[in-house]
Amino acid sequence: MFVCLKYGTTKEVINKFITNIKAQNFFAQDACSGAEKFIEIHCTEKDMEAIIPYFGDIYVGHSVYKHCAHYHNYLNIKAGGYTFKPEHFTIIGGPCSIESEQQVKCIAESIHKNIHFLRGGAFKPRTSPYDFQGLSACGLEYMKKNSYGVPIISEITAIDQLPYFEQRVDIIQVGARNMQNYDLLGKLGQTKKPILLKRGLSSTIHEWLLAAEYIMSNGNKNVILCERGIRTFENYTRNTLDLSAVVAVKKLSCLPVIVDPSHACGKWWMIEKLSKAALAVGADGIMVEVHNLPDQALSDGPQSLKPSKFNKLVAELRVLAPHFGKKVV
Ligand code: PEP
Ligand code: MN
Repeated sequence: MFVCLKYGTTKEVINKFITNIKAQNFFAQDACSGAEKFIEIHCTEKDMEAIIPYFGDIYVGHSVYKHCAHYHNYLNIKAGGYTFKPEHFTIIGGPCSIESEQQVKCIAESIHKNIHFLRGGAFKPRTSPYDFQGLSACGLEYMKKNSYGVPIISEITAIDQLPYFEQRVDIIQVGARNMQNYDLLGKLGQTKKPILLKRGLSSTIHEWLLAAEYIMSNGNKNVILCERGIRTFENYTRNTLDLSAVVAVKKLSCLPVIVDPSHACGKWWMIEKLSKAALAVGADGIMVEVHNLPDQALSDGPQSLKPSKFNKLVAELRVLAPHFGKKVV
């Protein structure tokens, strides 16, 4: 457990509390980092109830999530000239995979006025090794050249790809399959690029937030969470969109939370309703797959909106957002 103390609490006061807690037979140590004042205590939630009163008015809160806990200020993460703010509803759209220079140009041309970030996969983690695996670094190049000035986001699948991402991408996506690749997460903690961390296929909220801690505790505080549906017994939809998890992580953490309705449901005709539901439960934005020719897409065509439908959805979200304390800037 990490106990967060008021900014400016002195070393003497911290040491006094550590001595007191140790005297009660709990492990306790100074876990301050820079201006952030923390004491790490090994105890249960129930034990904390007894310990808390000793801290008096220097106590701010406690959590197992040292870096992403709710008592930190909402992180105004900056990426490619855009800032994630609590009042912003962020729109991310683009194809599942970059298939060719023409394809990404055509999609970006038709949606660039309605997106804050263009998405597109170049290193694709496909279930079958016989399916399209992405255009690799070349795909990132096509995307950067044809994004109409919109910042870009793409998925990394191995740390040796990092140099390509450092040069060409504004937000690095960690996909559901890699959410528990702790070596990758730790190394992404050493970059400055913001990371969009998708929830694992069958990960709990606790595992998801601890995955964020792997990145943040290694030095990169710029983490954005993305709920993309979890695997349940239901197979009519591709996954089950867990909107309650969005409400939970908004309460437990200080991180922006994006909803990806495309991978959650797997069906293009559900995307509009799920996007509006995401706004209604307090998500900070959506990430939607968009394709000019969904029937011919090399991946995830059935869950991709055509540009005209996507643009209509964003127009509606612009009108709805202020009713939920948000705006699409
Ligand atoms: C994707 O965004 O294209 C993707 C592969 O997503 P996920 O990791 O959520 O399956
Ligand atoms: Mn996809």
